[in-house]
Amino acid sequence: MARYEELEDKRVLVTGAASGIGLATAKRFAAEGSRVFLVDRDGAALDAALEDSSFAGGARADVSSEEEVRGAFEALDRTLGGIDVLVSNAGISVRNPCLDIPYEQWNRVMGINLGGMFLCSREAGRRMVAQGSGVILMTASSNGTEGHRWYGDYNASKAGVILLTKTLALELAPTVRVNCVCPGYVLTPMQKAEYTPEMLARVNEGIPMKRHAEPEEVAALFAFLASDDARYFTGADLRLDGGETAGL
Ligand code: NAD
Repeated sequence: MARYEELEDKRVLVTGAASGIGLATAKRFAAEGSRVFLVDRDGAALDAALEDSSFAGGARADVSSEEEVRGAFEALDRTLGGIDVLVSNAGISVRNPCLDIPYEQWNRVMGINLGGMFLCSREAGRRMVAQGSGVILMTASSNGTEGHRWYGDYNASKAGVILLTKTLALELAPTVRVNCVCPGYVLTPMQKAEYTPEMLARVNEGIPMKRHAEPEEVAALFAFLASDDARYFTGADLRLDGGETAGL
C-alpha cells in the first residue's frame, strides 16, 4: 500500500484516531512506514486500536481541554521526539434545529470541533516552526461550506476550521503547510449512529456518486496532502464529497 517514500519514519499525530476517518488515516500512515501516535478521548477504543503493533503509541486526551492536549503532545515528545505531520480530526456532531440547541451543546461542539483544532495546531505549529518544517491537516466538512439544516453548531464549527486553516497557512508559510479536507458523507460509526439504513439509502440517492465515501478514501487524501506531491498546497480546503456540493 505504501506510495510515498518520503512519509517513511515521519512522526504523525492523529486525533480522533480510535474510530472512523481517524483510525483509517492512522492505518494509512502506518502502511506508508510513518511512526503514528494516536490521540482519542475514548480510552477503551484507543487501547483496542493500540493493539495494532504498527502504531508507535498513543495518549488519551480530550482535544477541547488545553491541559490534556498539552499532556498528549508531551507524551508524543517523549515517545517520538517531536512531530512532522498533524492530522487534527477529532469531532462530534449532534442533530437538532438551531432553535432547539442548548447553549451547553453549542459550546461543547465548538470546543471540540474548532477549539480542539486550534489547540492541537498551536502545539504542533510551535514545534514545526522551531524545527523548520511540518504539515498540519484538519478535517473540516462539506457542512462548513454551505448551509445544512439541523447542524447549526456543527456547520459553524466546520466553517471555522476552514478559516483557521487559511489563517495558519498564511502565518506559517513557507515553513509549515496547512490544509483541510471537506468530506461529504463518509460511512463511519458517527454516520451510522445518526442515520437509519433507510435514511442512508435516501442520502445516497442524492449524491452524484450514489454512495458514501469510505474512511480510507479520506485517509488517502491526507496521505497525499502530507506527501511531497502536495508540496505547493497550502491554505486549501479540498472537497471530497462525491459531487454532493458540485451543483450548489
Ligand atoms: P467517529 O465518531 O467514527 O470518530 C471520531 C473519533 O473522535 C472517536 O474515536 C471519538 O472518541 C473521538 N473524539 C470525539 N471527541 C473527541 C474529543 N473531544 N477529544 C478526542 N477525541 C475525540 O467519527 P468520524 O466520522 O470518523 O469523524 C471524524 C471527523 O470527520 C470529525 O471531525 C467529523 O466531524 C468529520 N466528518 C465526518 C463526516 C462523516 O460523514 N462521517 C463527514 C465530514 C466530516
